[in-house]
Amino acid sequence: MNVEGRYQTKEVWRDADGQPLHPHTNYWVGGNTKFYGAALFRLRREDFGEVKHWGGVSPAWPIGYEELEPYYTRAEALYHVHGQRGDDPTDPPASAPYPHPAVSHEPRIQHLADDFARQGLRPFHVPLGIMLDEASPRTSTCIRCGTCDGHPCLVSAKSDAQVVAVDPALRYPNVTLLTNAYVSRLETNATGHAVTGIIAERNGAREEYRADVVVVAAGAINSAALLLRSAGPAHPQGLANRSGVVGRHYMGHVNSVLMALSKCPNPTVFQKTLGVNDFYFGSEDWAYPMGHISFVGKLDGETLKAGAPAIAPAFGLDLMARHSLDFWLTSEDLPDPDNRVTLDRQGNIVLAYRPNNEEAHRRLVAKLEHLMQRQTRCSVHGHECHQGLFARNLFIGQRIPLAGVAHQNGTVRFGHDPETSALDVNCKAHDVDNLYVVDASFFPSSAAVNPALTIMANALRVGDHLRERLA
Ligand SMILES: Cc1cc2nc3c(=O)[nH]c(=O)nc-3n(C[C@H](O)[C@H](O)[C@H](O)COP(=O)(O)OP(=O)(O)OC[C@H]3O[C@@H](n4cnc5c(N)ncnc54)[C@H](O)[C@@H]3O)c2cc1C
Ligand code: SF4
Repeated sequence: MNVEGRYQTKEVWRDADGQPLHPHTNYWVGGNTKFYGAALFRLRREDFGEVKHWGGVSPAWPIGYEELEPYYTRAEALYHVHGQRGDDPTDPPASAPYPHPAVSHEPRIQHLADDFARQGLRPFHVPLGIMLDEASPRTSTCIRCGTCDGHPCLVSAKSDAQVVAVDPALRYPNVTLLTNAYVSRLETNATGHAVTGIIAERNGAREEYRADVVVVAAGAINSAALLLRSAGPAHPQGLANRSGVVGRHYMGHVNSVLMALSKCPNPTVFQKTLGVNDFYFGSEDWAYPMGHISFVGKLDGETLKAGAPAIAPAFGLDLMARHSLDFWLTSEDLPDPDNRVTLDRQGNIVLAYRPNNEEAHRRLVAKLEHLMQRQTRCSVHGHECHQGLFARNLFIGQRIPLAGVAHQNGTVRFGHDPETSALDVNCKAHDVDNLYVVDASFFPSSAAVNPALTIMANALRVGDHLRERLA
């Protein structure tokens, strides 16, 4: 990871052994959606119930899919999602079509989709939040470039939270945005039942704000850290933490980037259009969920070089990137109370995480390897064209599993029972009357698709509740 990067946080966290950790997360208006790949999935309907996995049980949510469905539909409209309903065999029912047609595959990806279909799978077009108008390229805001995943969009054509939500909100006279404002603590009244002060550090100075209702949305790790830092006499374990769950059940998915190398080059520019969910709930030969297969943005030599040991030859990495299909594999990790965010004595974040449900991921990788070996013979190189499937870390020589916190969730879970959850079903703290947490923290389970659309839909749901409350 490039810790010198403009947007990358310079914070140093610690792992459970006290070793320094450079988290791959970005602090910016719009949060990590400025950098995301804009793959905007609904969780599957089954993800809201209890699901048995190889590694244990994924718990049920306190709300069902049907309660979130109208908000998924609204979030898809707001975030310009392009997709095709019914393509994906695991798609949950939806009350409206996608607002925009699916983003087309480039030829190499279409070829792969045809190959997967020939092998009996149902590959689908990944739902994407980009403002692309393929019917009118001249007027399309999105120019279909190669830097969508992992970089901000310089022409404001990616549906990120700044472009879609924050900037339009700022047109209202009663909305103010403060940047470079680090919220260090929330103060409460003597009983601890109401937040009375928001302490911020801004341009080196301490500032204090007050509000009738306070909504924390600092991302799953930082929201938990803020509540823990806000411990006081009425809540010595941390704010909203009578249950002791704040910071616990950290999840981030079991993820791999796998490069399938072939003798033929892969000239794809925008690669993230294809997904495979046929193994999401299991397969004929394995009864447990395995997860989701899709793509990262096209890797290049530069990306591979970031973090590569000095001995890695740049030419080799460039060549490799020109010939690779770059898959993104996600399996569900299960909520473990010992996987958690805590603070050290100086108040720095400590992230303890032991991966679980890994067999599901190994099986998913094996499925992909098998599929790639059974590809149609290439007309130039025959079956020898496919050189194998390699973990990206084999090339960059460094593995950074814990620092990869892109899909962080679950640290301030919502639920009906104040003994086992920190938030109620409206994402209001059970213990505090005017405090809400509305980001990825509330997830009781992580499912195995990308989280952002669920975070957006839930924010709209809580927004409706707040509107009623404030009316
Ligand atoms: C490279 C990359 C690619 C991704 N691709 C996808 C994808 O394709 N699809 C998908 O669904 N998801 C993707 N994600 C994940 C997605 O971006 C996150 O799930 C989502 O942004 C999380 O939203 P959030 O509101 O929980 O937190 P964030 O987006 O992290 O927002 C938190 C905000 O709080 C601010 N903040 C933190 N602490 C404080 C504090 N103490 N005081 C004040 N402000 C604070 C931060 O600056 C930030 O603006 C990707 C992430 C990355 C990094
Ligand atoms: S212009 Fe590029 S970065 Fe922007 S939305 Fe389109 S593909 Fe993504």
